[in-house]
Amino acid sequence: MPGLTHIGIAFLLQPLVPSIPIWALLIATELLDIICIVLMIFGIERMPTKEKAPIAPYSHGLFMAVVWTVSATFLTFMISNNLYMTLIIGGFVFSHWCLDFIASPMTYAYPNDTGKPILFQNSRKIGLGLWSSKIAVIIGEYIVTLIGVLIYIVWLIL
Ligand SMILES: [Zn+2]
Repeated sequence: MPGLTHIGIAFLLQPLVPSIPIWALLIATELLDIICIVLMIFGIERMPTKEKAPIAPYSHGLFMAVVWTVSATFLTFMISNNLYMTLIIGGFVFSHWCLDFIASPMTYAYPNDTGKPILFQNSRKIGLGLWSSKIAVIIGEYIVTLIGVLIYIVWLIL
């Protein structure tokens, strides 16, 4: 999380990498959240709530984000045998952690949110905390996503 921005970035950047299908960009940019959702189903991780801090070291810790990025990069190369596509997909996967690092802790929506752990749950948490500001959330989540989707639609039509 934040989810919307990642989707917006995939749409926004699609015209720059037209040979890579949008579904691949969307899965790549949201991979860490997809892993988080699976782990939440098994009760291993949880989103921040109004009262509780998040638990998401396996999907969103820096160490595991690198592990998932390397795994996704390797898998993409095994499937596609295309170095260009591999590097782009790897970049999109890791972009998720970078954006979450900028946004977290997202105290505007979740007062008890923390930054992202460097290793696992009890390690140091880091983040720039941009989503503590309402105006940053509105611009970063909604306006970026809206512009991304609009640019994508115009690119599809032209
Ligand atoms: Zn996330």
